[in-house]
Amino acid sequence: MTRGEQLYEGKAKKVYRTDDPELLIVSYKDDATAFNGLKKGTIVGKGVINNQMSNQLMKRLEKAGVPTHFVEELSERDTLVRRVSIVPLEVIIRNIAAGSFSKRYGVEEGVVFSAPTIEFSYKNDELGDPLMNAYHAIAMNLATREEIETIKKYAFAVNDFLKAFWLEAGVTLVDFKLEFGRLSDGTIVLADEISPDTCRLWDSKTHEKLDKDRFRRDLGGVEDAYQEIMRRLKEHA
Ligand code: UDP
Repeated sequence: MTRGEQLYEGKAKKVYRTDDPELLIVSYKDDATAFNGLKKGTIVGKGVINNQMSNQLMKRLEKAGVPTHFVEELSERDTLVRRVSIVPLEVIIRNIAAGSFSKRYGVEEGVVFSAPTIEFSYKNDELGDPLMNAYHAIAMNLATREEIETIKKYAFAVNDFLKAFWLEAGVTLVDFKLEFGRLSDGTIVLADEISPDTCRLWDSKTHEKLDKDRFRRDLGGVEDAYQEIMRRLKEHA
């Protein structure tokens, strides 16, 4: 399968047509942004790591019963995926307080929740991806009630799987963001990526951050952290 016309260029990926209208190629870049595009930079090698990590995890999730857009890894940075129309919601699951949750609710980073949480934000850069509840999403026709139920079920299943997977690799899954899409027949599948760009991953023993927070917060050692988390994935795979 070869790349056709470029359809879209996002912050971290480019998307190309293929000769099959139901399939697209995503190509992962090293570009990094944070704070709604305010902070920009490059994380050398990130595209390769995010591509390979996301594909590994999606393959496993399929086996665990969560349908995904993943079809085939084509090269270090390129992957064939099923074409979806993205449900314009960022779906965030949290196991431990961090980031915007800590700020909004005044809970110290690192506090372990007694049960995982789910939240949605409206994918809209102009508005800064505002927090939104399921009733808002249904009222605005962003998703149906049934789709929201399916998305919730899959998101918690992803959490159960990923939490256990990373634990065995000595990594604590703090929180993560998912995006879902609809296939042409309306089936909801997991789309976008699962990577250190979209997850908070801490070393289980030292609590060292092995994710994009090193870039967001200028902690240094960004490339090393991405390499280390990939090493853990490969070791455990
Ligand atoms: N996240 C993401 N994209 C976004 C916002 C958040 O991938 O546009 C991920 C982020 O990496 C973290 C989780 O979602 O793993 C929760 O992020 P949070 O709401 O705490 O926002 P942040 O503090 O990153 O602004």
